[in-house]
Amino acid sequence: MADKQKYKRSKQRERIYSLLCSTKDHPTATWIYSELKKEFNNLSLGTVYRNINILVDQKKIQRLQSGSSFDRFDGNVETHYHFICEKCGKIEDLPCVVLPELNAVVNTNTGYHTEKHRLDFYGFCFSCSAQ
Ligand SMILES: [Zn+2]
Ligand SMILES: [Zn+2]
Repeated sequence: MADKQKYKRSKQRERIYSLLCSTKDHPTATWIYSELKKEFNNLSLGTVYRNINILVDQKKIQRLQSGSSFDRFDGNVETHYHFICEKCGKIEDLPCVVLPELNAVVNTNTGYHTEKHRLDFYGFCFSCSAQ
């Protein structure tokens, strides 16, 4: 059975997905929960996590593991790079900078078959470097 058919449709999951696609803020599960709590008054944080995991499994969204802090989620699954502010924790998409040839470099050096890669740049955003 194809991944996409493995799960029953869920109104809540559809809203989580559309919410993630409508923001560029790479939110946490807690943020999603507080947004959707207004719409679904019996929603629990556990339900949000479960649906997020299904969406990750279906490759409709991606999980951005960020070390010690909470996981953040991204409705954009195309290859794109992130800038992460080390002070305020903001995660921003970096437009127009993708280096597909990096996959080939890895393949040449390892013999592996790379399908995708992720790249995070760390530093300080405008408002944090102005302080
Ligand atoms: Zn910042
Ligand atoms: Zn992103």
